[in-house]
Amino acid sequence: MEDPDNETDAIIARAHNDVPQERACLRCRTPFWSEGFGERICRRCKGLNAWRNGVSVTPGLARRR
Ligand SMILES: [Zn+2]
Repeated sequence: MEDPDNETDAIIARAHNDVPQERACLRCRTPFWSEGFGERICRRCKGLNAWRNGVSVTPGLARRR
């Protein structure tokens, strides 16, 4: 079921996370050029949302019980 090689890849990717490379946007899944660690959202999505404020807004998941 699980591929050991794939797991190793993930660990290596994590260790080298702080390098500029192409990543998939967490919001629209579109491959974009990430400048490094922490940049997981493409510029377009950043522009659409207020990520600059440091507040991650989750649509549809308001604080309700
Ligand atoms: Zn995006």
